[in-house]
Amino acid sequence: MSVSDTIAAIATPPGQGGIAIVRVSGSQAIAIARALFRGARGAQVIEPRRVYVGHFLDRPDGSRLDEVLVFAMRAPHSYTGEDIIEIQCHGGSIVSRRVLEAVLGMGARLAEPGEFTKRAFLNGRLDLAQAEAVADMIAARTDAGLRLAWSQLEGVLSARVGRLSQALLQARALCEAAIDFSDDDIREPTCAEIAEMVGQVRAEIAKLIAGFRRAQVRYEGARVVLVGKPNVGKSSLLNAIAGHERAIVTPIAGTTRDTIEVMVSLAEGAVVLTDTAGIRHAADALETAGAERARAMLNAASCAVVVLDGATPVDADDRLVAQAVSATTVIAAVNKTDLAKQIGEADVRELVGGAPIVEVSALLETGLESLTDEIGRAVFGPKVDRGEDEVMMFRARHRDAALRAAEALGRAEDALAREAPLELVASDLSEAARSLGEITGAVTTEDVLGRIFADFCIGK
Ligand code: GDP
Repeated sequence: MSVSDTIAAIATPPGQGGIAIVRVSGSQAIAIARALFRGARGAQVIEPRRVYVGHFLDRPDGSRLDEVLVFAMRAPHSYTGEDIIEIQCHGGSIVSRRVLEAVLGMGARLAEPGEFTKRAFLNGRLDLAQAEAVADMIAARTDAGLRLAWSQLEGVLSARVGRLSQALLQARALCEAAIDFSDDDIREPTCAEIAEMVGQVRAEIAKLIAGFRRAQVRYEGARVVLVGKPNVGKSSLLNAIAGHERAIVTPIAGTTRDTIEVMVSLAEGAVVLTDTAGIRHAADALETAGAERARAMLNAASCAVVVLDGATPVDADDRLVAQAVSATTVIAAVNKTDLAKQIGEADVRELVGGAPIVEVSALLETGLESLTDEIGRAVFGPKVDRGEDEVMMFRARHRDAALRAAEALGRAEDALAREAPLELVASDLSEAARSLGEITGAVTTEDVLGRIFADFCIGK
């Protein structure tokens, strides 16, 4: 992919809106704008740091498409590091498309998804973890997730990774110095020093890896599934909680039509509640085609709420459901407590052991707060103040690179303990540094970049 051509895209989402923004980046951006823009005083020199109002034409000396605002950012002081023009036209897909077409007619090329950010990366404006954070900010669905992505965009993770890479570089330099002096008097204290440095770096990487799951939960919201045989009131309960907590009902891409997801903001963080009503019979869910989906949902869940119908005795289906979630953190919700009670605590205990039991009525909307309190406790644990500034890693790509780095460092430590040749240690240290470098993109391939930026939207 050439970085010398000029790219353009509509940066605002499709559909109707107040304004739409067409973004142009590359060496021809300003010339194109000059050719197509007519300011109040005719042809206009478009200087950076100024906003111009005027008309945008369909071609030089052509007819007016719209009244627009135009401004320029000069390389290298722009998002992409190239000359950028932004044209604010009236919202609506036709207007913005015609403006875009006019720009393309002047020789710009339609940008690929994420290509503006890719250029920012290639031009050194952002490192790879920061570029990913741009997409993560756009995709964030929770306040906590947004804060996490923002801190990554500000370079908090990159700085930590950079510091660790620096330490590995030093350790390697010590290794090489000791290789050059084969004298044991130098070698031994040096090896001890290297081992200590490697141990420290490995411990810090291990901390990042250990926090991964928590970071993911913070970014995406904890997943909680409502399970139970048909008609116990799962959907009703979900709707009651949604209404009660003023939850945001989010249609989430990739979910099937028969599962409903609701995002609930609790004091400790966001929870994505899923109703598994789509999985009709517990027995079916365990033994047939639904099994895989049910299992995948349970695996991804931080907690399962077993919903029971308090007005009917516990039966074999309830037992199947309880068995299916026995590997998960469980809360029992005894629903329909507005009706005559047919379930005793002992019956529920038999199903869910020591799990918390909450009595609710989806119909009367009682017990909902106790239930969400228990959910909060179950998925976020007792409130521990880890501080907002804890460095966290929530992308699987980063975690995998960190795992590889930790493995290589483990081998280096082994080699040091075995008094193996320092060449081996040095090579493990290099490999660890390379793996860390993948996080920030210091080490990368076109393949990896392709995969990362393909997930972006057009115009970003
Ligand atoms: P699901 O199959 O588990 O999702 O159950 P639904 O939410 O569809 O509810 C099944 C039936 O139970 C419906 O007729 C609901 O109106 C009723 N129902 C749900 N919750 C309650 C409740 O708290 N009290 C009473 N009396 N009926 C309820």
